[in-house]
Amino acid sequence: MAERVQLPDDAPYVNALLLQAIQGIAEVLGVNGLNAVLRASGLGRFVDNPPPNNLEKGVLAREYARLNQAVEEFTGRGGKGMLQRIGRASFRWAVREQATTMGLANLALKALPHRLRKRAILLGIRKGLTDTVEYAAIEVKEEKGVLVYMDYACTICHTRHSDQPVCHLYVGTLGEAVAFATGRDFRDFEVVETHCRAAGDIFCRFEIRDRDVNG
Ligand SMILES: [Zn+2]
Repeated sequence: MAERVQLPDDAPYVNALLLQAIQGIAEVLGVNGLNAVLRASGLGRFVDNPPPNNLEKGVLAREYARLNQAVEEFTGRGGKGMLQRIGRASFRWAVREQATTMGLANLALKALPHRLRKRAILLGIRKGLTDTVEYAAIEVKEEKGVLVYMDYACTICHTRHSDQPVCHLYVGTLGEAVAFATGRDFRDFEVVETHCRAAGDIFCRFEIRDRDVNG
């Protein structure tokens, strides 16, 4: 897989994944903050009326991307960190409320040694997205001992343009996921978005490393 995925401008997105982000935003920004960013991103229809927790396509991928952008604008210079926090909160909420939907319920993480659990949870996320989003195209691999996660049809930056990677919510989610899988803290891991479709790359690519040199 090394070809550019042409995602239509009006590609749909599923309710459950929007709901996940909305829950994370509410946890981090509060309900007033959530309502402000929903209105700012043209998603006012979800104010006090969250999407159902199902796999129907009630939103567009570009609206989901616009919501991410609105959080960044709303929170100014702290936007990157705020989106990472939202990504972490979203993942935790998904584990509690959507484990079955998102394919996280049957991951036998405890049976695996720690070093394999990180890869297993990333593969679990890939499966969850592949099962729920028709155009999902994700690769998980190891390059020179570094875990790499690549999304060829990233919805967080769909139709966006930037000279810097913008998928900070994804960074938070992946960091929280490996922390969850290993029973450690997200601060024990460094997640960096090295490429981003918003910057013209053909994928959004994330490197996940242990901060502890002993891994
Ligand atoms: Zn990106």
